[in-house]
Amino acid sequence: MSEHIITFNAGSSSIKFALFSIGADGLLRRAAAGQVDGLGAGAHLKAKAADGRVLHDAELPEGDRVGHGDALAAILALMQAEFPQLRFAAIGHRVVHGAARLSASTVIDDAVLASLRTLVPLAPLHLPNNIVGIEATRRAFPGVAQVACFDTAFHRGGGFLSEAYALPRDYFEAGIRRYGFHGLSYEYVAGRLAELAPREAAGRVIVAHLGNGASMCALRGGRSIDTTMGFSALDGLPMGTRCGAIDPGVLLHLLETHGYDAARLSDLLYKESGLKGLSGISHDMRELEASQDPHASEAIAYFCACIRREAGALAASLGGIDALVFTGGIGENSARVRAAVLGGLDWLGIEFDPDAQPEGRGDRVISAPGSPASAWVIATDEEAVIAHHALRLVRAGVQGATTASIAARHTKASLP
Ligand code: ADP
Repeated sequence: MSEHIITFNAGSSSIKFALFSIGADGLLRRAAAGQVDGLGAGAHLKAKAADGRVLHDAELPEGDRVGHGDALAAILALMQAEFPQLRFAAIGHRVVHGAARLSASTVIDDAVLASLRTLVPLAPLHLPNNIVGIEATRRAFPGVAQVACFDTAFHRGGGFLSEAYALPRDYFEAGIRRYGFHGLSYEYVAGRLAELAPREAAGRVIVAHLGNGASMCALRGGRSIDTTMGFSALDGLPMGTRCGAIDPGVLLHLLETHGYDAARLSDLLYKESGLKGLSGISHDMRELEASQDPHASEAIAYFCACIRREAGALAASLGGIDALVFTGGIGENSARVRAAVLGGLDWLGIEFDPDAQPEGRGDRVISAPGSPASAWVIATDEEAVIAHHALRLVRAGVQGATTASIAARHTKASLP
């Protein structure tokens, strides 16, 4: 009987999952994937087998009352019904924040869970959902190893210069640092590029992860040396509904002069800004591309200008560029955004002809043959990274070592 790994990626109103079987050769193969959307407002479970067969596509019973725990139970029940031989080697969780302490994927024990709870103030919108998911699967499968994979971990190791803000040093010690996010996606893209273009992957690469959340990362030799997101997932590029980089003086002004409080500011910055705020139409790139409204094209132009500006900054961090990779829903699918970005980056040595794009989909080079620096589209696969880490950790049996190394690290808890 083959063993399986299931991965969960819990967002504020959705849970994505993927089921992998572990072959006799030790390799992971995707068996099924899907998601529950609309948690809190008519939860809907969609799931497909790897061969494309629809396993489920319907609202869950009492859909309005389905929470994260119920959604996980529904996913697990469906997988157990569809794969009667199911036996889990591990359950992997995407966790948005590990801060400085949790700097690598880890098997989750009581100490790790306690650490995660202390990090909730760093990611109050996302981390509680991750924790609910972990608690639910621990209860349901007490004997199965649970593994946490952090979106921040890939960016650790840059040290003070890359992680500090220019605040008094005590703030750095208290955890006010540039953490960076989308690390699981960058890790996948770095590995995939190494297969497709080993010479470039060993050099200087910029990856643009452009989805509802969006950030960019500078990789040297496959390792992150700079990224556009910082302490929170608000910084850097404008996103579907998030503002991206903003002068902190604007926030002070809104607080002091316009009577804003933290909750109002949070709604503005996380939910009302970005493409949605700029266009006044939608956060969704497909809708903006389909719209004739000039505010829609202005929002897209603004988004692309920010990507070009960040590409210039990251190229400066790298001292040049050998390849640029687009990924995420927009990066993988929007030829218009890619053309607008690359049309302004020829000075970096990327030769690009929007009218001579190779046919078809999938991972591919999109720069001209012989271009000094190449441009790529790579479809990201965060679930594969989570499953890979989960398998690696349970095979290595490193639970004790990981917990000890977490306990050995110390972050001062309070601000001056
Ligand atoms: P998330 O960050 O939620 O995982 P995704 O990576 O799925 O988001 O990206 C969602 C974004 O990708 C949306 O703005 C969506 O409109 C955009 N997108 C998806 N398909 C296309 C397409 N064919 N053309 C343009 N944009 C697309």
